Amino acid sequence: MASQTSSSSSSRARVLCDCGEYAIVATSRTPENPGQRFWGCKNYPSAGNCGFVGWYEPPVQNDDIVVYRLRRKIVNLEAQLEDKKKRNEEDLKKIESLQRKNYWLRVLVIVFGLFIICLKL
Ligand SMILES: [Zn+2]
Repeated sequence: MASQTSSSSSSRARVLCDCGEYAIVATSRTPENPGQRFWGCKNYPSAGNCGFVGWYEPPVQNDDIVVYRLRRKIVNLEAQLEDKKKRNEEDLKKIESLQRKNYWLRVLVIVFGLFIICLKL
C-alpha cells in the first residue's frame, strides 16, 4: 500500500494511488469504522483497481466523536424519513385520484358498450 502525497494549489494535499491517479475520498460503512473517511483507488470496484486504501483523517479513538457522528447521522436519516413520508403521502393521493378516474372510465366503457348493444337491437 505505497502512497505518495503531492501538494496542489488547493489547501488540501492530494494522494496518488498505486495506479498513479489521484485517489478519491470515500466514507466507510463498516461496523468497525462507521462514517470514517478514507482515500481509495478511483477505479474501485472495477477489476483494474489497485486496492489502495488510506485513512483520510486519523481513525477516531474518542467515543464522543463517534456518538456525535452517529447523532448527526440520525438527524439526517430522520430528515430523509420525513421527506419520504411526504412523498409517500403525495403518491397515495395520486393513486387515489387515478383510482377515481379509473372507476369513471370503466363506467363510461360499460355505458358505451350498452349503447352499442342497444343500437344493434
Ligand atoms: Zn488505483
